[in-house]
Amino acid sequence: MKLVIATANQGKLKEIKLLVNNSFKNSIEVLSLNNYPDLPDIIEDGKTFKENAVKKAKIVATATGCVALADDSGLEVDYLKGAPGVHSARFAGKTQNDQANIEKLLRLMEGVPMERRTARFRCVIAIATPKEQLFTAEGTCYGFISLMPRGKKGFGYDPVFYVPRYNKTFAELDLEVKNKISHRARALAKAIDILKEIKTKSLLYI
Ligand code: IMP
Repeated sequence: MKLVIATANQGKLKEIKLLVNNSFKNSIEVLSLNNYPDLPDIIEDGKTFKENAVKKAKIVATATGCVALADDSGLEVDYLKGAPGVHSARFAGKTQNDQANIEKLLRLMEGVPMERRTARFRCVIAIATPKEQLFTAEGTCYGFISLMPRGKKGFGYDPVFYVPRYNKTFAELDLEVKNKISHRARALAKAIDILKEIKTKSLLYI
């Protein structure tokens, strides 16, 4: 079975590849969009993480004839009624600057006490087959928006996402720990089970 990971983000690609290869002991051929340079950019214009992930997975499965896995993720803040949500990457404008996004978020949360700063990271993974089967898996990680940025690891909103259980922000946690509790890790664990099922079933038809 060939699996195309439909992401242009090299960090995510590395993380997903590692987990798939470990889970399948390299018995699946894992490809990425790098193997298909002629595929056009896919516009993420969905209103939900699921819509975006499904759109990407379907387009890539049809274009490549392989099973495709795509994800979409972001931060939802209760005080901001779920914003930035699907707009997480470009919250402060199209430049996609993490620092500017964090500054905007902290500005909007100024004066809001800790107990009302609840937030969650969400990730939806969609898996599409060339036979038009579609599966989705979700992962959530709950926390709070900290009063100021802390830590230097990670990316995106990590410096302001505080996890009480560890008394640390995502940017202060070792990647090993983040990769156990993160929204993406949780969605990926479910996605691996779906891939196992697809692999077993497709073997039956060989
Ligand atoms: P996408 O899934 O690549 O579209 O990511 C959307 C945006 O959500 C990213 O650019 C980040 O701003 C934010 N985001 C998603 N996952 C994380 C994470 O694990 N840490 C910090 N920010 C994240």
